[in-house]
Amino acid sequence: MGQRTATPSPPVAERQALVIGAGLSGSAVAYSLARRGWAVTVMDQAEGVGAGASGLPAGLAAPHVSPDDHLLSRITRAGVEATLQRAQTLLHSGTDWGLTGVLEHNVGGKRRLPQGGQPSNASVLASPAQVAQAGLPPGTPALWHAHAGWIRPRQLVAAQLQAPGVRVLWGQHAHSLERQGHGWALRDALGQQLGHAPCLVVASAFDSLGLLQPLPGFAVPLNSLRGQISFGHMADLAAHERQLLPPFPVNGHGSFISGVPTPEGTPGWFIGSTFERQCEQALVRPEDHEANRLRLATLLPALGEAMAQQFDPARVQGWAGVRCTLPNRLPAVGPIDRERWPGLCLSAGMGARGISLSVLCGEMLAAELNRDPLPLPPELSRHLRAERYANPS
Ligand SMILES: Cc1cc2nc3c(=O)[nH]c(=O)nc-3n(C[C@H](O)[C@H](O)[C@H](O)COP(=O)(O)OP(=O)(O)OC[C@H]3O[C@@H](n4cnc5c(N)ncnc54)[C@H](O)[C@@H]3O)c2cc1C
Repeated sequence: MGQRTATPSPPVAERQALVIGAGLSGSAVAYSLARRGWAVTVMDQAEGVGAGASGLPAGLAAPHVSPDDHLLSRITRAGVEATLQRAQTLLHSGTDWGLTGVLEHNVGGKRRLPQGGQPSNASVLASPAQVAQAGLPPGTPALWHAHAGWIRPRQLVAAQLQAPGVRVLWGQHAHSLERQGHGWALRDALGQQLGHAPCLVVASAFDSLGLLQPLPGFAVPLNSLRGQISFGHMADLAAHERQLLPPFPVNGHGSFISGVPTPEGTPGWFIGSTFERQCEQALVRPEDHEANRLRLATLLPALGEAMAQQFDPARVQGWAGVRCTLPNRLPAVGPIDRERWPGLCLSAGMGARGISLSVLCGEMLAAELNRDPLPLPPELSRHLRAERYANPS
């Protein structure tokens, strides 16, 4: 399915990379490069896993659908497959992830399936039994994504960073970068060199802008989009609330997940998330719990009504993070401008789909650098390239 190339891999001395950012994006790139025999050093300003958006307690890997099966739908389907395979390889089913399938409540009837021959992993209309299991009234329009499930992103990040060939340095704030010899040097705020490598991958989400904007002509329009989820412990739910819990995650107007471990490790429920543009602060706000309560009331009305008191500020817990977005909801991956800045790459702009896209993006970037066949056909991969902003066609 990928693009074939006869080019041999780079020589060993060139198979070294520095990756800035140890979130889903950076850890996926590191894993995919290390699997190809590269020596990879990942640096993060934080002291451990999950400082950025990838600290999300639980989220969904689920595809986008559209009547014309347009490129976002095809790319997310490929991305979800890549993530589920990675999860299967690295994570513990039931505690770190679950291939549960996801029911999409087609709120407002806005989602339509493509007509005609579809791939075997395509989404279908939900059956009346699945609609009933979700606790939705008969006839509620809904889709069923069988190749989908929940994931705890921190677990995936940690597992990817443990790949042989990956070295992680915590507490390293990258302040600036410069071309030096045949590679790139990274410096801290005092001008001390943190590292040097032939290949530098910037995967620090919205903060990538601060590092890359000083390069004259850098044009990737990264934006910030804050979001908050609300969550609580299953043990705090009353019997009548528990009876209404769907046996699988439900999305379509935010998403609801239950039976998944909270950060404390006990089973919990999660509803989210809010969207706030141009906010770079990952603060938990009480008003966002109210927005999530209303979200649940639309997504799963009976459950939302039963669980209303769980959103009491004294009881509900929250987690907020800052997504990094791009205008067409597709990330920017790979060399930024290979003629002007050889060896300088980006993997950022995962938006609200980092779980679904980061593994595929890591594979694409590593395949490109190692001169391997790409994991996507050219008509799709070109829409993910960071270079699309340097050389708009
Ligand atoms: C509320 C919410 C709900 C979400 N739900 C879902 C979902 O259900 N499904 C889904 O697919 N996606 C979801 N997402 C999106 C997903 O979480 C993100 O797309 C993904 O985590 C982004 O990963 P990343 O590695 O690009 O960025 P991050 O996880 O933010 O990682 C960036 C890393 O770079 C480090 N860093 C930054 N600057 C520097 C520097 N100068 N030097 C060194 N290190 C630096 C940071 O410490 C951080 O660890 C959600 C996001 C939010 C906020």
